[in-house]
Amino acid sequence: MTLVKCPYCEENIDRNFEFNWTKHGNRYWHDKCWESYDSGRKLVYDRAGQYLGNLADYNKITKQFNRYIKKGYSPEGIVQALDYWYNIQDNSPDKALGGIGIIDSIYIDATRYFKERQALKDKQAKEQIHFQKEYERRYYQPRAVKIPKANKRFHFE
Ligand SMILES: [Zn+2]
Repeated sequence: MTLVKCPYCEENIDRNFEFNWTKHGNRYWHDKCWESYDSGRKLVYDRAGQYLGNLADYNKITKQFNRYIKKGYSPEGIVQALDYWYNIQDNSPDKALGGIGIIDSIYIDATRYFKERQALKDKQAKEQIHFQKEYERRYYQPRAVKIPKANKRFHFE
């Protein structure tokens, strides 16, 4: 048995008897775990690059990303927090020092902001549907179909 621990799910991999693993850097990862980690990291890289441009320091961002994931933050949440900071609050990347250290102090506020915004959207959508139904009920009642009276002039009986 050659046991190593997957750094993502922290379960053991027996390198002699399991084959769904790959070495990345100096660690052994389940392929699935690596995929999940790597796609999340890409998501954050892309967004960080979008806001930081040439200032982005991807080694730094990787270290910070790893720390956040350990803390239980999700890649999607980190991306939202970046949107919150740079897009909604319109902050400048000058003080970011190439990284995403700001996430530490805004993650909770940002996720709350988006949750509330989504709740508001849902509420508005519900009200819209209600209004629509009410409107249709009032103004689009199917008209009673008028049946033309038989023309007496051509009434042969
Ligand atoms: Zn794993």
